[in-house]
Amino acid sequence: MLTTVDAFGRIGEENAFAVLARATKLASEGRDIINLGIGQPDFPTPPHIVEAAIKALKDGHHGYTPSTGILPLREAVAKDVHRRFGVDVDPDLVMIVPGGKVTMYAAIRLFGEPGADILYPDPGFPIYRSMIEHTGANPIPVPIREENGFAFSAEETLSLITPDTRLLILNSPANPTGGVTPASEIDKLVEGLARFPNVAVMSDEIYDQLIFDGLEHRTLLAYPEIRDRLIVLNGWSKTYAMTGWRLGWSIWPKALYDDVRKLAVNAWSCVNAAAQCAGIAALEGPQDAVVRMREEFDRRRKLVTDGLNALPGVRAATPKGAFYAFPNIKETGWKAKPLASALLEEAGVAVIGGPDFGVLGEGYIRLSYANSAENIARALGRMRKFLSDRK
Ligand code: PLP
Repeated sequence: MLTTVDAFGRIGEENAFAVLARATKLASEGRDIINLGIGQPDFPTPPHIVEAAIKALKDGHHGYTPSTGILPLREAVAKDVHRRFGVDVDPDLVMIVPGGKVTMYAAIRLFGEPGADILYPDPGFPIYRSMIEHTGANPIPVPIREENGFAFSAEETLSLITPDTRLLILNSPANPTGGVTPASEIDKLVEGLARFPNVAVMSDEIYDQLIFDGLEHRTLLAYPEIRDRLIVLNGWSKTYAMTGWRLGWSIWPKALYDDVRKLAVNAWSCVNAAAQCAGIAALEGPQDAVVRMREEFDRRRKLVTDGLNALPGVRAATPKGAFYAFPNIKETGWKAKPLASALLEEAGVAVIGGPDFGVLGEGYIRLSYANSAENIARALGRMRKFLSDRK
């Protein structure tokens, strides 16, 4: 019998992939399944980005690249950040990684060990907690509350910091809630962090361009006072509809950069060379596809919120960012996971139960509106019938 190390008894996963597998299986058996489970844009990658990858392959970009990513791409990231936020970034502190997830893997590996506390949002992206537990660190949930607009509360977050806290994970716009933490609250949080100079911050900003109602994304890069302990996670997956390309970028403090470079050398060597060339085309080419996708998500956001609020026992806050709705289903009489499962098996609608994102997710389900308006309307119709019939 093979036995693996204890750390593998402490690794979780992302249930969205299990739901996707089940939905795909049901569909292969002839069922008509509407998938509002997985969080990926339903648009193709814009053609000029695809063309850039094809050209890169034809031009011979077939080999390893530097582990940190090719310089023109790191420069393009620095320019993009400057264009959008007016913040200067040294390209030598930009790291190109195989997807945004790899940045969280690296950051949590750098600070996670038995005895260390790592703060993460609950409900939040499930991999934060999974990776924290895997390293043996203590996962300390930061409550993200509906009554607070699904934003971080600076006061509550700061109150959870102890002498053992090594890393604070932030995420705005947020998965699974669609919450956006207001700039004023981020100001307060950063001000309070001055009292805790040994706490590193990882800001997951992967949805920074999916933000609505005229709100502006406040990047943590805008605060020079924490740049020496700030890791920013971002990438191409959600903004440019490139989830399958596995391409992400992050910005690191100088003191950590070489550790991450070595982790890259040990674990993944470098990111696919042609995908890196495509990444340059995405950042430096026309941005009209990004605007069009955002406008389309905005239309669907209204459709899904109105539709959910018309369902018996369901109350949905209007999401301010990302492409998820996180309705409160407590008045339906259902627990979240059984409801998600029954909706898939009986109504053919894939959604994710809130508890898959943390203990505060009970009483909620997550719907990704990265699906066509027509499918969203059909899914809402099925949910209405299901909830009315099963009252
Ligand atoms: N961070 C958050 C909050 C996400 O929702 C996701 C993907 O769902 C990621 C990071 C990972 O992105 P990637 O697909 O680039 O690894």
